[in-house]
Amino acid sequence: MSLIRYKEKRNFKSTSEPEGGKPKGGSLRFVVQKHDASRLHYDFRLEMEGVLKSWAVPKGPSTDPSVKRLAMMVEDHPYNYRDFEGTIPEGNYGAGTVIVWDEGTYEPIEKIDGKKAQDKHLLKQLKEGSLKIVLHGKKLKGEWALVKTKQSENSWLLIKHKDKYAASSDITEKEKSVISGKTLTQIEKAMASQNGKTKTASKKATAKKVTAKASAKKAAAKSSAASKAAPEKRAASKSSSGKKKARVTS
Ligand code: MN
Repeated sequence: MSLIRYKEKRNFKSTSEPEGGKPKGGSLRFVVQKHDASRLHYDFRLEMEGVLKSWAVPKGPSTDPSVKRLAMMVEDHPYNYRDFEGTIPEGNYGAGTVIVWDEGTYEPIEKIDGKKAQDKHLLKQLKEGSLKIVLHGKKLKGEWALVKTKQSENSWLLIKHKDKYAASSDITEKEKSVISGKTLTQIEKAMASQNGKTKTASKKATAKKVTAKASAKKAAAKSSAASKAAPEKRAASKSSSGKKKARVTS
């Protein structure tokens, strides 16, 4: 429920990741983000008690019920993280590009009416180490389970249940973001060229400033030279008084 660990790991002056957010709407939401960090992985997040319970899934979800995917539970993320797509800058926790690979609403497998009651039911399952859910995403649909293992404190397994949405094809081949339609590589390139442009633009601005100063200097030197006319004084004004005057003119 607390975002202390999430906030401790991040410097919000340096990353554009969201800091908070209040849940909206009558349904619980889920999101799966594809994250090109030091190791590529998928982040599986379920809205519960106002935050996003989160698991890092190295290989991503599989729609094949015979395939169990390791899911390492990580710190709770703020609700607004479900919209986050972009690049976490170098030197920050989780540096790399993120896309919203899938998103939608979800609910417990057991028929329970109302978001509040569903939330309570799911929290109980979370504590027991066995979540049974139905996903209504754009890519992931139908029944899924998240089951805690005894291997280590945070290790869980993400498993597809047998239903009409089960398939042996590789769902991760559908690689585009469901919000921008872009792939990780496309977002990465777009961000890189944007940064490149910013750098070039600021370089140009600096160059302009220098030129302005130089021409002001020249103008000041010219006017002082014209008024004083003597060639030796012209040389002097260029070196010393010219500089002072340039500052006044600019
Ligand atoms: Mn991640």
